[in-house]
Amino acid sequence: MIVFDLKCLDGGEVFEGWFSSGADFDEQTERGLLQCPYCGSAKVEKAPMAPLVGRSDGPRSDVKGMMAELAALQTKMLSNSEWVGDKLPEQARAMHLGEIEPRAVHGKATAEETKSLIEEGCRFSLSRFRWCRPAK
Ligand SMILES: [Zn+2]
Repeated sequence: MIVFDLKCLDGGEVFEGWFSSGADFDEQTERGLLQCPYCGSAKVEKAPMAPLVGRSDGPRSDVKGMMAELAALQTKMLSNSEWVGDKLPEQARAMHLGEIEPRAVHGKATAEETKSLIEEGCRFSLSRFRWCRPAK
């Protein structure tokens, strides 16, 4: 299996094309079988990028770049926030009830705890990512 980034010459869209081989790509191009999925144009060529053969070498470089951006974003978001670990639900509740000064915190909560916090009207944002505890 070979994956090419393809570019539509009419609309400029870039998309992925999967082929059994490089020759398969050439053949499909010659027969005019390749089409831009966005505008239907048959003027499609390989985008300037090295082909990726198989997927055994781990995530694609763009995924790696995305993960790096996410990690940087996480660091930025958490830079003014205090890690409270398992105490997150009680901290969030205490802030909600005005028992302690509101401040930015992050930590862990079970699905059940999260549900109770929502029901009690606590303000927080949920992350579906499993974030790592930042190094001190
Ligand atoms: Zn197009």
